Amino acid sequence: MTCCIRCWKEEAATKYFGGQALVFRPFIVCATCGNKRCPHATDHRLKCTNSNESGQPGSVYGTKLDT
Ligand SMILES: [Zn+2]
Ligand SMILES: [Zn+2]
Repeated sequence: MTCCIRCWKEEAATKYFGGQALVFRPFIVCATCGNKRCPHATDHRLKCTNSNESGQPGSVYGTKLDT
């Protein structure tokens, strides 16, 4: 299931052996609040903040990890 970026990466790693597929990131939003920058959209283990602020702890959006 692609419920968050973390799960998508794990799924892509098994399917595509960590190759080029990881260059592309699907548009995944939080299932709870619908915000893409919500940390819950990055990792379902993180709490939903109901916020679309950039640079939230745990979110890949607005951080160094957002390449
Ligand atoms: Zn997940
Ligand atoms: Zn959320």
